[in-house]
Amino acid sequence: MTRTVPRIEVHLLQVGHCRHPEWITLRGGRWTAAEFPALAALLIHPTRGALLYDTGYAAHFEQATARFPEKLYRWITPVQLAPAQTLQHQLAARGIALGDVVRVLISHLHADHVAGLRDLPRARFSALRAEIAGLAGLSRLGGLTRAILPALLPEDFAARLDYADDARCIALGPLWAPFDHGYDLLGDGSLIAVPLPGHSRAQMGLLLRDRDDRPLLLAADACWSARAWCEQRMPSLLARPLMHDWHAYRATLAGLQAVATRQPELLIVPSHCAETLRAYAPTMTEAAA
Ligand SMILES: [Zn+2]
Repeated sequence: MTRTVPRIEVHLLQVGHCRHPEWITLRGGRWTAAEFPALAALLIHPTRGALLYDTGYAAHFEQATARFPEKLYRWITPVQLAPAQTLQHQLAARGIALGDVVRVLISHLHADHVAGLRDLPRARFSALRAEIAGLAGLSRLGGLTRAILPALLPEDFAARLDYADDARCIALGPLWAPFDHGYDLLGDGSLIAVPLPGHSRAQMGLLLRDRDDRPLLLAADACWSARAWCEQRMPSLLARPLMHDWHAYRATLAGLQAVATRQPELLIVPSHCAETLRAYAPTMTEAAA
């Protein structure tokens, strides 16, 4: 007897954006500055309630970068967060309060992915163990050079954290090579954490099926746009210091293309790709009962 895996209602939310010349994120890209949306995915599980994959930006980013040396971060990546784009506003528009969010699945610790954690008073957190281990002994300057601002993490972060790799490990099978394993985060097969190495110490992608039964791989910063994996275009060498492991990043980028070629129905969702965010529109749009 086959067990039915719960389908997830997915809302891709743009929670602020920063501006860069495109060529920094995509080799050979345009020289003009372009907007890079920051993604938070609202994931409504039929029985577990509202979860988030990352948070995007929040007012805390401004506070955490008010002083030197953190101010440099704000200068290098000018951030905008319109009132209508705050997480609170976009969740409320869907009938969800910040306190309703039960869990945040953290792809990695870069500031544009975790800036809103302090606004979610009841949420527990999930991340890969090695990503969190990178916080140990991290100085302010050391964090800054890796785009990590520890001030964004709630004081009780450690107490609310569960390691994603403590969940049941499952083999993904040949369709997913070179990504060979994942972690069944909720124990029902609905949300599978998939390690996507290279960008940070231990970046966590997320595999799920949405309400239209479409497979989605939320890929965070394993690629910065759909074009990057389609055309196998690496970022500029200027972005190299930000990467934990440049060669692993390249292998992951190639892996994404291989997986997408084998599974044309799969939608890969980078966290900063305006095209992908615009294109995703599930037909099931009614609010959760
Ligand atoms: Zn990142």
